[in-house]
Amino acid sequence: MTDSAGGADRTGTAHAAALDAADPLASYRERFVGAGTPLVYLDGNSLGRPLAVTAERLAGFVTDEWGGRLIRGWDERWFDLPLTLGDELGRLALGAAPGQTAIGDSTTVLLYKMLRALVDDARARDPRRTEIVVDTDNFPTDRYVAEAVAAERGLTVRWLEVPTDGGIEVDALGEVLGGRTAVVVVSQVAYRSGHLVDLGAVTAAAHAVGATVLADTCHSAGSVPVALDADDVDVAVGCTYKYLNGGPGSPAYVYVAERLQGSLAQPIAGWMGHADPFAMGPGHTPASGMRRFLSGTPSVLAMQPLADLLGLLDEVGGASGGDAITAVRAKSVGLTSYAIELADAWLAPYGVELATPRDPDRRGGHVTLRHPRMREVVAALWTADVLPDYRDPGGLRIGLSPLSTSFDEVRRGLAAVRDLLAA
Ligand SMILES: *Cc1c(COP(=O)(O)O)cnc(C)c1O
Repeated sequence: MTDSAGGADRTGTAHAAALDAADPLASYRERFVGAGTPLVYLDGNSLGRPLAVTAERLAGFVTDEWGGRLIRGWDERWFDLPLTLGDELGRLALGAAPGQTAIGDSTTVLLYKMLRALVDDARARDPRRTEIVVDTDNFPTDRYVAEAVAAERGLTVRWLEVPTDGGIEVDALGEVLGGRTAVVVVSQVAYRSGHLVDLGAVTAAAHAVGATVLADTCHSAGSVPVALDADDVDVAVGCTYKYLNGGPGSPAYVYVAERLQGSLAQPIAGWMGHADPFAMGPGHTPASGMRRFLSGTPSVLAMQPLADLLGLLDEVGGASGGDAITAVRAKSVGLTSYAIELADAWLAPYGVELATPRDPDRRGGHVTLRHPRMREVVAALWTADVLPDYRDPGGLRIGLSPLSTSFDEVRRGLAAVRDLLAA
């Protein structure tokens, strides 16, 4: 338990330094604002750090694109940006072929639009499909939207009970699925426990009973492999301010499998989703393709930072000779495994429990550690520039954004937790 550099001491500074030295992604950390300061950032899964180039991009956008092109910017680039940037995101982080991803709205608004579209479509095909399946520990907004859509459309929410230190198991899901299921709403990575669900297996189980899947990839995009096409997912949504470093309140994204685009009608039928927005005529005729899922004028300004993170992923993919997310995931598993190793050595003696799956194949990019004193511990950490998150009950949540977090940072953060518990 010392900080000495003993070779065999896996909790020592020398071991953290060795892990950083062996990390092929280590150098990318310097690209992020604040990475050179002593601050320990363990909440990249709530709000990713900005890239330094984003400051330049935003300044250039104001002076050149907005200030220089003015209204011409819409014709030249902005009108199509939700779709062109969506395609890039799909290619680099979602396993989605072009023409299936659009950027815009917030995750909450997109959940509403797409759940409405999916339940209406299910009812039109078969009026007996009256249930929306959601797990009891899904992110609050997902649960609330499911309840609101159910109330609005006269449907029922069918709750799947899951533990707060685990998540959806496909066998248990199978027991609540049936001929009444319209849509299954599932988060690929559980926001509290970090449990990683097998999205392909969930989709297969839902399709086997004739239901569709609305996947929330907020906590997975940019940290774990997302394979929307290969997993045959119907619709997916997610946010860009977590592992995609888009900035506070940056727009969300929606993926709709090509085979479904023509049959889904979303409820906020605004002019930007019209087949001919500038005709400004009577009645709403939805555009073909992904444009029909847009509603009003998109937040072009707030989409700018995402382009930088996507550029970085492209670079990482090129440098690693493959898929960027494969390299990111390898580091993510290394970081979470190291955090668990330190927690076992340093925190378990104080009664801290792991509330995240121990099997790396079953967890995403964050780790939750439980102890009755964690609320006060997290408050003390924040005043000392160590920034993890707190989630009830008693959960210290450590979000390890792979491109911007070092092994040494993880070590310093957990050492600070240990010292507070010891005090
Ligand atoms: C962060 C998160 C959200 C956030 O939704 P907003 O509309 O951006 O506030 C939704 N779902 C999940 C699973 C999340 O992790």
